[in-house]
Amino acid sequence: MVKINTKETCTSCGIGLVEVGYSIFECPNCGEEMIGRCKQCREHSTQYECQKCGFKGP
Ligand SMILES: [Zn+2]
Ligand SMILES: [Zn+2]
Repeated sequence: MVKINTKETCTSCGIGLVEVGYSIFECPNCGEEMIGRCKQCREHSTQYECQKCGFKGP
């Protein structure tokens, strides 16, 4: 099984996930890449892109 990348940075803007309110979840498409979203990107519904399969989501 592919090792999951657990670097805790926002996938959309790249900042470290240190502020309360972030979320980390597996890519809903391939399930192999961890998607990180900071509070700002969640509130603004910034699009993220899976670096493994290229899936984009709000
Ligand atoms: Zn962000
Ligand atoms: Zn993916």
